Amino acid sequence: MVEIAEEKSVPALPPWRLQDFEIGKPLGRGKFGKVYLAREKQSKYIVALKVIFKEQLAKYRLHHQLRREIEIQSSLSHPNVLRLFGWFHDEHRIFLILEYAGRGELFKELRRSEYLSEKRAATYIASLAKALAYCHEKHVIHRDIKPENLLLDLEGRLKIADFGWSVQSRSKRLTMCGTLDYLAPEMVTNKAHDYTVDNWTLGILCYEFLYGVPPFEAESQEDTFKRIVEIDLSFPPTAHVSAEAKDLICRLLVKDSFKRLSLEKILDHPWIIRNADPSGTCIEKGIESK
Ligand code: ATP
Ligand code: MG
Repeated sequence: MVEIAEEKSVPALPPWRLQDFEIGKPLGRGKFGKVYLAREKQSKYIVALKVIFKEQLAKYRLHHQLRREIEIQSSLSHPNVLRLFGWFHDEHRIFLILEYAGRGELFKELRRSEYLSEKRAATYIASLAKALAYCHEKHVIHRDIKPENLLLDLEGRLKIADFGWSVQSRSKRLTMCGTLDYLAPEMVTNKAHDYTVDNWTLGILCYEFLYGVPPFEAESQEDTFKRIVEIDLSFPPTAHVSAEAKDLICRLLVKDSFKRLSLEKILDHPWIIRNADPSGTCIEKGIESK
């Protein structure tokens, strides 16, 4: 879920219409509809058009949440946050005009290559830290950062997507698929939590980028829960992960949320300084094409 300190008024009627766009290939299927490649006719600007069926929204009573999330995401403008340019609707559907992320989900690349190089992992962690620092400044906590919600543009730049839905999608995931893997101890135990939950998640992601699996993965939800609250962390022996990377992970996966490394300090960590590409773009041999 995204949290925001103050409510703003929802903008007046959106100016866009479906006729303004040429629709291209489907890019993927969302829970409430599909995402298509599209081009705005006048400017020829390429976007991703996400289609949400109103009937589905009504069924899950998500109107208000969608409205709020549209408001939040369209107010965010950062190179590592997927832009939401606007929205419009017709009788049955709501259309979100999104920045096109040409290389798709980071999750798929991670599964394809098993694990990422330190250079790539550090570049993504630095991009995430910068994006989250920007969001936190705007009083937005993403709380649902995970590889499926991270997209890549054609240059390999990471984009955080899916602001919102997260309460619904997370509670669904808990009941339907049982993924606790990315939740901080204070979240699995329902304690109060704040911005530092996102810092915890960076530790989980850093581990998953480097080892290919999240650190507290277990056979059952109960076991993952136990491993999270006990911070049962171990590093499988492998030659491709440096001691500096493990040091960063250990400084993020800390139970006491106040003791977790801050986003600024993540960016100053020797592993990040040594490995992260300052341009934020990261394309490696063998994975250039989707
Ligand atoms: P939500 O999280 O909002 O409920 P969802 O997770 O079910 O929706 P999305 O992740 O938004 O659906 O989109 C489904 C698929 O479409 C994803 O697998 C992703 O690969 C693709 N996709 C979504 N947005 C974009 C985009 N801006 N650029 C490229 N591909 C996208
Ligand atoms: Mg998604």
